Amino acid sequence: MDYFFTEEQKKWREKASHIAEQYLLPASIKSDEEQSFPAEIVEIFAKNDLFRVLVPEEYGGSGDTVLNLCLIVEALSRIDGGLALLLAVTGLATIPIASFGNEEQKKKYLPDIAAGKKLAAFALTEANAGSDVSAIKTRAEKKGDFYIINGSKQWISNGGIADVYTVFVNTDIERGARGLSALIVEKGTEGFEFGKKENKMGIRANPTRELIFTDVKVPVENLLGKEGMGFLIAMKTFDYSRPGVASQALGIAQGAFDLAAKNYVKMKKGKEEGDFQGMEFLLAEMATKIEAARCLIYQTARTIDSGAKNISEISSMSKLYASDLAMEITTDAIQLMGENGYIKENLVEKMFRDAKVTQIYEGTNQIQKEIIALKLLKKYLRA
Ligand SMILES: Cc1cc2nc3c(=O)[nH]c(=O)nc-3n(C[C@H](O)[C@H](O)[C@H](O)COP(=O)(O)OP(=O)(O)OC[C@H]3O[C@@H](n4cnc5c(N)ncnc54)[C@H](O)[C@@H]3O)c2cc1C
Repeated sequence: MDYFFTEEQKKWREKASHIAEQYLLPASIKSDEEQSFPAEIVEIFAKNDLFRVLVPEEYGGSGDTVLNLCLIVEALSRIDGGLALLLAVTGLATIPIASFGNEEQKKKYLPDIAAGKKLAAFALTEANAGSDVSAIKTRAEKKGDFYIINGSKQWISNGGIADVYTVFVNTDIERGARGLSALIVEKGTEGFEFGKKENKMGIRANPTRELIFTDVKVPVENLLGKEGMGFLIAMKTFDYSRPGVASQALGIAQGAFDLAAKNYVKMKKGKEEGDFQGMEFLLAEMATKIEAARCLIYQTARTIDSGAKNISEISSMSKLYASDLAMEITTDAIQLMGENGYIKENLVEKMFRDAKVTQIYEGTNQIQKEIIALKLLKKYLRA
């Protein structure tokens, strides 16, 4: 399908595919098995300007678009969705600063993120606050010119390797979601420590850590927007970032499909025309659904890039459709490959494990359905 990409978009996609083949592929099995993060990947992404895509031009970025980031994340995830997460999460955590930060905050943090000198993380989830963001208990009390943070976050991607953390805290316990605020917290701040590293099913290359805050003193200048805007900042951020998760899912699905199709062609050699027609029909269905997901994601990204305001629904649809599809395609790819799909060296079982999380993070798919249904009901109530 011709998506009428500009020369620049083609360039980003080709560059990311080249990086994925040359650097991610050789690191894939080891980083998955050892659950280790290869630090040189940061340098490779930085040298190739991938982090610049996340940042506006005036702060050292390339001022690129959601579509460009989607193309890059898709191409990287086609080879390794876990290693691609480094960029996608830094993107997720950069959105609140780029969209809600003041001039000083943007000048202070964005150029280093763009240059790949500093990685970022997004810390919303807590032990008892996942889907229900309003249940956040990490407390930030204002004392003079500082906020004092106490509490903990769980399941934070880029945990420990990131330098800059956007942390969602409760600044007014009486007000539920309206009492949430977002603070920038730097690694190394006294009292800010990293706890348990999760032993995960998939995306094992990316460290998922607990963050612990004990009387962490953060200057009031680190508040993003205003007190009470935390919930809004988190939700608006997801509107922009969910096509990125969808692209990660799409890339994983495409990667698994490629392996299954290649395996099938090898198996089919020397067989009669018409043999295994059931498998060929399955491959045809898989390819059709992958292309449908691609259309939805690219069009969503283009809509967001156009400056459209009402993007929650399409953003959720992209994430919902592509992540469910990634599970379906990776499952079918293993089935098509039989025992070859079930062993680690052929990578498709890793893709199956990596795909699962795309149905969970940045809002589970049940939450995406709630968002879509709510928008639909509003539309039909007005009609
Ligand atoms: C590998 C990994 C990386 C992550 N990275 C980050 C990160 O970088 N930053 C961050 O802040 N968080 C991160 N998370 C957390 C992730 O966003 C949460 O796991 C997710 O939001 C779901 O929350 P929960 O796990 O507490 O599930 P729960 O909210 O407890 O949900 C459990 C189940 O109930 C369903 N459910 C809950 N509420 C509803 C409802 N209202 N309607 C219908 N069904 C519902 C859910 O869909 C789910 O199936 C990560 C998680 C994982 C697994």
